[in-house]
Amino acid sequence: MAEKRDYYEVLGVSRDASDAEIKRAYRKLSKKYHPDINKEEGAEDKFKEVSEAYEVLSDSQKRTAYDQYGHAANDPNFGGGFGGGSYGGAGFGFEDIFEQFFGGSGGSRQSPNAPRRGSDLQYRVTLTFEEAIFGKETTIKYNRNEECHTCHGSGAKPGTSPVTCSKCHGSGAVQVEQNTPFGRVMTQRTCDVCSGTGQEIKEKCQTCHGAGIEAKEHSVKVTVPAGVETDQQIRLSGQGEAGQNGGPYGDLYVVFRVQPSEEYERDGTEIYYELPISFVQAALGDEITVPTVHGKVKLKVPGGTQTGTSFRLKGKGAPSIRGNFTGDQHVKVTVKTPTKLSEKERELFQRLAEESGQTVRANNEGGFFGKMRDMFDK
Ligand code: ZN
Ligand code: ZN
Repeated sequence: MAEKRDYYEVLGVSRDASDAEIKRAYRKLSKKYHPDINKEEGAEDKFKEVSEAYEVLSDSQKRTAYDQYGHAANDPNFGGGFGGGSYGGAGFGFEDIFEQFFGGSGGSRQSPNAPRRGSDLQYRVTLTFEEAIFGKETTIKYNRNEECHTCHGSGAKPGTSPVTCSKCHGSGAVQVEQNTPFGRVMTQRTCDVCSGTGQEIKEKCQTCHGAGIEAKEHSVKVTVPAGVETDQQIRLSGQGEAGQNGGPYGDLYVVFRVQPSEEYERDGTEIYYELPISFVQAALGDEITVPTVHGKVKLKVPGGTQTGTSFRLKGKGAPSIRGNFTGDQHVKVTVKTPTKLSEKERELFQRLAEESGQTVRANNEGGFFGKMRDMFDK
């Protein structure tokens, strides 16, 4: 057997690569080496190598075992002749090897031809602040494995069908005799002709090369619920990957991320808005037009309003995701002290001070000495 390359090396990712990175690398490489696209010599072997690496690294259980034991986890001779499997084709193997490593001695293992449900997929959707509040209809597109349209999943050329494997007679496993220091031992191994499926495809389907599945761009309509928040998700049943042996499709999880707003802060159904008002507006009161996600609203600020005071605009927040109520918008007022005064304004402030019986030593240079003087005046 030729020296096997490290799976991480095959996919060109680091050992701590995330699932998404692994998936991305696999997509790129499987496209590059796909036998339908790449006719160069060795491309098909590369394609198989990449698929095998992905099959292991994309499955957290298999990946953990691979990280721990390396290729030995998949070596039939590992541990003195345990039966093992290859990852080829129809995905038979690791659970079985696991079973044999850790206490299982064959026993009740699942039939290789049992229908298996397809994998779930995840799709991230980024929403603007407003889209998350009001919801929307959108269509998303992604690649997934679908049942091959030519062979309808059988992997066999149209007009033919898989037959019971001639080597293992359908059991998916063969007995192997091995010489060990303790004598001859009979062990069970995954059948190399059918890769454990028990079914032999004499003439492979030309579309899917016997896999029974093909990668396709798939689109699906998504209704974004009004009031959704970052990291909330919806599940679309049957929109994941195709199953095996006639098993159902997996599901698609659409996960939302909401972009922040420049104007508003949101916490659940409540929206927060900061409104700067002038010293005069705070002192005398005013009616001020305030933006909300539902449109402009007039807010009455009473005379004598202190900075930091919050006003509530009822029903101007975000809807609850259950749709039974809508939150409020909270308007927090900050009083802006004027930084530059005209001669006329200064006079008026002086008169205001005298009127209220205060002595003010006007101090416009501010800074350290100004502050010192303020302190001594007290
Ligand atoms: Zn096919
Ligand atoms: Zn077989």
